[in-house]
Amino acid sequence: MHGLMMDFPLTLSAILRRAETLFPHKPVVSRRADKSIHRSTYAEIGSRARRLAAALRALGIRPGDRVATLAWSHSRHLEAYFGIPLAGAVLHTLNLRLHPDDLGYIATHAGDRAILVDATLLPLLERFRSAVPDAKLIVMGDGQPAPAGMLDYESLLDTGSAAFTEPEIDEREAAAMCYTSGTTGRPKGVLYSHRAIVLHSLASGLSCAMGLREDDVALPVVPMFHVNAWGLPFTAAMAGAAQVFPGPYLDPTSLLELMSAERVTVTAGVPSIWAGILQALDAKPGVYDLSSMRTMLVGGAAVPPAILRGFQERHHLRVLHAWGMTETTPLGTVAELPSDLASAPIEERYRYRCTQGQPAPFVEIRARVADSDVPWDGKTMGELEVRGPWVASAYYGDDSTDRFTADGWFRTGDLVTIGPRGTVEIRDRIKDVIKSGGEWISSLAIENALAGHPAVAEAAVIAMPDAKWGERPLAVVVFRPGASATPEELRAFLAPHFVSWALPDAFEIVTEIPKTSTGKMQKSVLRERFGSAGA
Ligand code: AMP
Repeated sequence: MHGLMMDFPLTLSAILRRAETLFPHKPVVSRRADKSIHRSTYAEIGSRARRLAAALRALGIRPGDRVATLAWSHSRHLEAYFGIPLAGAVLHTLNLRLHPDDLGYIATHAGDRAILVDATLLPLLERFRSAVPDAKLIVMGDGQPAPAGMLDYESLLDTGSAAFTEPEIDEREAAAMCYTSGTTGRPKGVLYSHRAIVLHSLASGLSCAMGLREDDVALPVVPMFHVNAWGLPFTAAMAGAAQVFPGPYLDPTSLLELMSAERVTVTAGVPSIWAGILQALDAKPGVYDLSSMRTMLVGGAAVPPAILRGFQERHHLRVLHAWGMTETTPLGTVAELPSDLASAPIEERYRYRCTQGQPAPFVEIRARVADSDVPWDGKTMGELEVRGPWVASAYYGDDSTDRFTADGWFRTGDLVTIGPRGTVEIRDRIKDVIKSGGEWISSLAIENALAGHPAVAEAAVIAMPDAKWGERPLAVVVFRPGASATPEELRAFLAPHFVSWALPDAFEIVTEIPKTSTGKMQKSVLRERFGSAGA
């Protein structure tokens, strides 16, 4: 109809233009592989991203081609985040923690035409390079020449013009892609459109999500090879916030030093990272100055209440719990305390903040059992389904439809209850829940409770086959250094919080719980090891 608004394309180039023209001097700080600190700005990132786009085009990269990165978090990776989509190509972040065979499978499946690789990761690349023999290899090193047959990133940039005029990009074209970490089965590709990332950035910037502002200093602990570092680099650039990248140094001490030195205000990562950081803060109170910190976003797995409370009570640091998936770009739900609970009793406030929270704007939710919705009563469990402008509608190059409903929703595989105000509580992954005597026992609830025991560093609860009950819970526990507890003590600690039949029958003590490349507990490995149900 004539007289409507402009059909302005929602593309990543609009985010970059804003960052480089309105906030040209804002710092982008990176810790390099040699531990030195490198400082860049949005002006520099912008011109280098354009030169990268121009050089990629000159190399023969065409719109829609996939260009991969195999890299830690740093400013060059940010240049690739913008430069590859600016060329009309698709930024494909390879997860460097995966097995080389999986990387080979993923790079082949995606059809990567070029790979930008950190010089320090060349040995890893060598182990799957034969899977993509025709891909152009571009090495991001610090001065050393690229190996024969590969291109040097800086020399390549020198060949590209910063005056590059980008092709006209349709907002519905793919800007990025990422493969699911999949605890079982082959990884699946998720394609993010320009429009999805732009809308996701707008929503992530809202105060009901991360609330990013120009005066923020954002440090994504979640690596740039995990769901676009949860979109933080895009959201921060859009807001004009400074960005700090930790490079390969994700140990608590390095992170705490960087957060304190760069006066970081917003950070984001998985619970296992925060558990380590909390331990380091507890061990050396007052050593790290985190007085600038406003929000520590935690997601990717349920936050154990003891961690959220520990940060708040012992260090006055606010942990914000959020839920999301690779398939949801990942912003799904956020547990920002609603105003009517602001003066509720402290226990009630903690309880709310440990839920997965309410859906972000434009994310719609429902929970289903056998194709019908369960009530939003906070009690009835069902599989969470979501839809929205940044939720996947299919997997890349995959016709399977079992995760997508005929009426346009994505099946998350998470078993949840939804409260009257749309508060989501994840009870379990559907494949991890324990079915005992016809009842469901939430492995997550027991794990969270166990994590509150002073001797317990970490716990995983899995199903054991049982002739009488079908399945019974087994708790696999890692103790803190120098600490221990007997099974009776652990069971007595849990007893006040659970019905008696939900308590684990047995406890296995281990030194480590196996994790996936994205820091989630690998229960399938534990199930195999302890010979339990459904290994
Ligand atoms: P991924 O796609 O690898 O990020 O994994 C997504 C899955 O991680 C979800 O389906 C959940 O099972 C789990 N997850 C993510 N965030 C949370 C959270 N805050 N609490 C509990 N589980 C979570």
